[in-house]
Amino acid sequence: MSGTTCAICLEDAKSPVSIPCGHIHCEKCLIQCVEACDDAVECPCPTCRALFMIATPDLRFVPAKYHPFIQSSVRRVYPSPSDVVQALEERNETLRSDNSALKDKIKNFKARNDHLQRDKQRLMDTCEATQAAVANYREMERQLRDEIDLSQAPTTDELDFAQVNQERHGR
Ligand SMILES: [Zn+2]
Ligand SMILES: [Zn+2]
Repeated sequence: MSGTTCAICLEDAKSPVSIPCGHIHCEKCLIQCVEACDDAVECPCPTCRALFMIATPDLRFVPAKYHPFIQSSVRRVYPSPSDVVQALEERNETLRSDNSALKDKIKNFKARNDHLQRDKQRLMDTCEATQAAVANYREMERQLRDEIDLSQAPTTDELDFAQVNQERHGR
C-alpha cells in the first residue's frame, strides 16, 4: 500500500504525481482535471484549490541561465522500494492468471480447430460422394439418351422403303 489516496477517484493513487501544493493524485485523474479546466495557464488543485501552472514556457525564449529554475509543476512521485516490490508482485500475480487464462483459451481453440477439421473432412466426403453420384447420373442419362435415339431412329426396313419412294418420285 502506498497509502496515498487520490482526492479525485478516492482510490490509491495510480502513477502518482505531485503538484507544488504537495497534493498527490493519479496521473490520469490529474490530466482529466486539467482537461476540464477553463484556464490554459493555471489550474486549481483538486484537493486544496491552490493554483498550479499547467503551461510550460518555451525554453527557446527563456535565457539559458533561468532554465534550471523552470520545471514542470507536475512531478512524478516515486513510491518506496517496498511499494515497488509489492506492485511487481501484484503485476506478477496478474500476469500469472492472465497466462493461465490464455492457456485455457488456446486449449479451447485447439479443441474447436479439431472439431472444424472433422467437420471439414465430413463435408469433403459428402462432396466427393455427391460428385460421384452426379457422374453416375450423367452416365445413366447418356445411356438412356442413346437408347431413346436408337428407338427413334428409322429401322433398316423403313430406310429401304424411303429409298424406294424417293426413286419412284424421282422418275
Ligand atoms: Zn485518481
Ligand atoms: Zn493541493
